[in-house]
Amino acid sequence: MTQPRVASKLLLAWYDSAMRDLPWRSTRDPWAILVSEVMLQQTRVSVVIPYFERFMERFPSPAGLDSAAESELLALWSGLGYYSRARNLKRAASEIVARGGFPATYEEIRTLPGVGEYTAAAIASISFGLPHAVLDGNVLRVLSRFLAEKGDIRNAAVRLALKQHAQSLLDPRRPGDFNQALMELGATVCLPRNPQCLLCPWRDHCQARALAIQNELPVNRRKRDPLKLNVRLSVVEKGGALLLRQRGAVEARLAGFWELPQLADLPPSASAELIGSFKHSITRHDYTVEVWRAARVKAPNGCRWLKLRDLSSIPSPQCPARRSSSPGSSDPPLCTPTVNGGIDQRLHSALFSG
Ligand code: SF4
Repeated sequence: MTQPRVASKLLLAWYDSAMRDLPWRSTRDPWAILVSEVMLQQTRVSVVIPYFERFMERFPSPAGLDSAAESELLALWSGLGYYSRARNLKRAASEIVARGGFPATYEEIRTLPGVGEYTAAAIASISFGLPHAVLDGNVLRVLSRFLAEKGDIRNAAVRLALKQHAQSLLDPRRPGDFNQALMELGATVCLPRNPQCLLCPWRDHCQARALAIQNELPVNRRKRDPLKLNVRLSVVEKGGALLLRQRGAVEARLAGFWELPQLADLPPSASAELIGSFKHSITRHDYTVEVWRAARVKAPNGCRWLKLRDLSSIPSPQCPARRSSSPGSSDPPLCTPTVNGGIDQRLHSALFSG
């Protein structure tokens, strides 16, 4: 078994030369780290970068977000998906303001709304230099290969053992860099499929590589079949305005968001033609979305005409771009908009671009 100090030293030396230049890596401000970590949950780095920069420009501190309207926050977040994260971030901002500053220990950070063990450890280590190892999907994958761990990573005992190993490897002099290095290794080298072992700083110490089983790990037994769903959306325009439906304030998902009405929301007499379709996957739901252009109708209950030019300032569930923690993942794109014919370009980019 490789000495923890040796493994840690190799990893940090690799990170110093290979780390990507990302906007949240130029700061230790805990607010910026919190925002980046929340945005990065389930969303790939290249998608997050412009959102992060816009967000930090508008809300450089928790106080700004605390006093902002939720609708402005959701409009800024539109396209990132998982909107409960945005709402929790606002609640966390209010809590930080109420406490008179950002909490500075792992335990206190962990009590902020929406902050779990992983995020608390990331902030504690990166912003405050505290020795808390993180455990996310990348770290689980890298360590199960490094140790040739054949247990199921959904098993609590296996996760605990891997967490303890991450903690034993962590360099207490550079805990934030160590955590980021391990995640970076998983995101850029130790990829879910086809790990790039020849480029890996641990290539001579990795037990899975020595046994040639790196492509079989990690073991993850609970893979449920995706749920296939069909949706028929309608595009109804009237002189530069678009018919949109607002979701109810108490709906479980996307409460208060504006979206295209479904074809079934329109009066049965409305004529409509199919103009395209796209596929979109989120969590374990695979949507096939048909888009129908419908003739102008009287706005049904719950719908309103909104100007095309105003679409970017309202919360709307745009298709997020592909979500993956690993740029090398060969998963298919989650959102493949192919609706072009007959749709105004502003409408297309407002509703279907990530
Ligand atoms: S040697 Fe290969 S399998 Fe092992 S940690 Fe490095 S990239 Fe992953």
